[in-house]
Amino acid sequence: MTKDTDPAARVLIVDDDPSTVLLMAHVLEPLGVIHVTTQGSQALELAVAIRPDVILLDIEMPDADGFEVCRQIKAHADLVDTPLLFVTSHTDAPLEARALTAGAIDVIHKPVHPDIVRARVRNYIALKQQGDRLRRLSTVDGLTGVPNRRAFDMALEREWSRSGRSGEPLALMICDIDHFKAYNDALGHVVGDGCLRRVAQELARHARRSPDLAARYGGEEFVLLLPDCASAGALAIGEGVLRGVSALGIEHPASSAAPHVTVSVGLALRHASHRGPQDLLQAADEALYRAKRSGRNRLEMADDNSGRSDGGA
Ligand code: GH3
Ligand code: MG
Ligand code: MG
Ligand code: MG
Repeated sequence: MTKDTDPAARVLIVDDDPSTVLLMAHVLEPLGVIHVTTQGSQALELAVAIRPDVILLDIEMPDADGFEVCRQIKAHADLVDTPLLFVTSHTDAPLEARALTAGAIDVIHKPVHPDIVRARVRNYIALKQQGDRLRRLSTVDGLTGVPNRRAFDMALEREWSRSGRSGEPLALMICDIDHFKAYNDALGHVVGDGCLRRVAQELARHARRSPDLAARYGGEEFVLLLPDCASAGALAIGEGVLRGVSALGIEHPASSAAPHVTVSVGLALRHASHRGPQDLLQAADEALYRAKRSGRNRLEMADDNSGRSDGGA
């Protein structure tokens, strides 16, 4: 593989021996930004903060066992795809096998040969960045730049399970652009695409906390998934979405709802009667249908949820 790596590649070196750290940092410096620590116990925290493209990890450190650090890193959702290389002065086969079984992608032996180590690490960075690009392509909507249906489906499953365990509420909104077919018919699909982009970006602004997710569900429908958000908060966010989309002031020459582009919103909260995430989605969809029938440019809440404050799992 000869592909160039991103000059902003991040490398994390973890080794208790300062001279090894210095040497490795010097050798790998041309590859990107080098972060180092001599404390194995700091490795996980640092890796979570830095999100490195590659990690070089010592096996024997006084304050931590390299294998255990590797296990923790590989168990972390944000780091599972980060290539990790062990660096060791040992050359015995069982140790090397154990390192590779523990999740390391490779083992480098000390003393290191600078050119070989640099070339090898460069290849792993390229592999990681190629994977990042593919992961991005498979979860981001090409037109609007917000997460796509696939990303939403995965998040819904994950957050459904999480709220089942924690008992925290889970709110879901479906936002559908009003009379979008007529908008396209009046102004053309290219202008329609631009409108979808602006509405998507507006929705993304309302997914403020880190577990919130705004995604394109399909066509001119978007979803907003709000973990640990009870009905009062979700209603406030939903009203904010209605106002925000209106405030974009995108002229709509053919809407019965307003002279500008608007959305209708169906909101549902997880309820004891829901057997799975599909029931939550269905409840939001039914609420959306009511919002459409009662005039559009408004929010309706699922029957299950009106008049109740519990998310009830
Ligand atoms: P309602 O107010 O009841 O939601 O009516 P509507 O016209 O918005 O709903 P309908 O489902 O009849 O039409 C949706 C339109 O969205 C039709 C389709 O051409 C358009 N659409 C879907 N995806 C895209 C896209 O990627 N780009 C553009 N420009 N239009 C799209
Ligand atoms: Mg050591
Ligand atoms: Mg629709
Ligand atoms: Mg529509």
